[in-house]
Amino acid sequence: MLFVAVFLIGILPLIVYSLVISSNLKTYFKESKEKELLYEANKVAVSIQKNNYLFDNKLRGQFIEEIDQKSEEEGFRIIVVDSLGVAVADTNRSAVGKMCVVPEILVALDGKDDANLRESEGVVYASAYIENDFSQKTGVVLLVMSFDEVNSLLEELNHNWLTVTVIISVILVFIAFFITQAIFVPLNNILTTIQRISNGQLHNRLEVQGHNELSQVADAINIMTQQLEHVDTARAEFVSNVSHELKTPLSSIKVLSESLLLQEDMPVEMYREFMQDINSEVDRMTNIINDLLSLVKLDYREEGVLNIEDTDLSELVASIVKRINPLAAKKNIGLFLDNNKDVMIEADGMKLTLALSNLVENAVKYTPDGGTVTVTVDADHQNAYFTVKDTGIGISPEEQTKIFNRFYRVDKTRDRETGGTGLGLAITHSTVMMHNGSIKVVSAEGEGAAFIVRLPIKYQGVRANES
Ligand code: ADP
Repeated sequence: MLFVAVFLIGILPLIVYSLVISSNLKTYFKESKEKELLYEANKVAVSIQKNNYLFDNKLRGQFIEEIDQKSEEEGFRIIVVDSLGVAVADTNRSAVGKMCVVPEILVALDGKDDANLRESEGVVYASAYIENDFSQKTGVVLLVMSFDEVNSLLEELNHNWLTVTVIISVILVFIAFFITQAIFVPLNNILTTIQRISNGQLHNRLEVQGHNELSQVADAINIMTQQLEHVDTARAEFVSNVSHELKTPLSSIKVLSESLLLQEDMPVEMYREFMQDINSEVDRMTNIINDLLSLVKLDYREEGVLNIEDTDLSELVASIVKRINPLAAKKNIGLFLDNNKDVMIEADGMKLTLALSNLVENAVKYTPDGGTVTVTVDADHQNAYFTVKDTGIGISPEEQTKIFNRFYRVDKTRDRETGGTGLGLAITHSTVMMHNGSIKVVSAEGEGAAFIVRLPIKYQGVRANES
């Protein structure tokens, strides 16, 4: 289709152009020849009139010589007819002395001076009458010229045009072929790959060649597919993690309840102990599900998901510290709050409380008995800073890049002890990101850890309470 279109677009103007040119040329040639003939006829008639060639026998010879020469040079026949219609001179000689019955002569001799140009069967007749001094018509000059020459010239021209058109057509066929190849082949590739991708084969990539619009499209599609593949892998990983996380407490519950069912005379203490274990496994599952729900809510990164309000960060952090204090006290950990300023920010207070609590809880959780945890709140004119510094077990540099991933835990065996789900830092990270802030960790294994959160004082995104 494109091939035919390119070919036609190329060849049609050429054909139209050649037709127009050929017909214009024909008209131009004819008209200029006709004008020339008329002019010559008049010239001959005037010269006869002036020199009285017709009636002076002496001069006639010279005159005939002159018109013979002109006829030979210009390629037309000159016939001079007297007032009776008898040819007195003819450059072809054949008509001399004979009556000439052509419309021009009859009309001119009749005293009318129109019809001085006529074309019939490829021959042009141009006439001019000769007058005497008393304005009487004494004869007629008739110029006859065949258009064969012009016609054959035009034919030759047409033939040449045809040759040029054929050559250009062949060239156009090649150009059209290459253009369609250059556009269609990559487009077809793109189409098949997109179809494969939409069928779920996300590993497919387009081959990017050259540097043009099509290669840019291919590049963009590759990036998009890569993202899709990434999201797909992350989703699969997440589902598998969730299943795995829930499977562990479920298996424990299954084992514990089966033992209860199978053993008939079980002492009440043991019974109670098993039930306590089942209860704590159920608590664990509830924690995981609650954390998952919080994350899913944060995952809806639609605009306006945050309920932004003027929030007193100092007060918010103070209440977190107050709530976690008993936990710290249990482990004999000194939990300190360092906040000299009254820091106000635009934030979603509820979500921020959960996010920052996770950090303080972790600090207490991963600090051995007798350690210290210091929480600091500070601000400059653009950002507020929240820091939790502990003297705990610390995090190695390799682990620091992974701890914000969902379900990631450095030491899986400590799960049961700490009650962690591996989702806390993922929740904190998502919340901080949604506030257009940043979070970083500074730590070394065995040397404590510091989590530093930066939050813009003025929230930049869209608010749920606005939409
Ligand atoms: P968890 O529920 O296991 O605490 P988090 O997502 O909150 O899950 O933390 C992920 C992992 O990061 C933890 O399992 C722990 O290994 C590590 N971590 C988090 N905070 C600290 C900290 N203050 N000191 C040492 N390790 C920490």
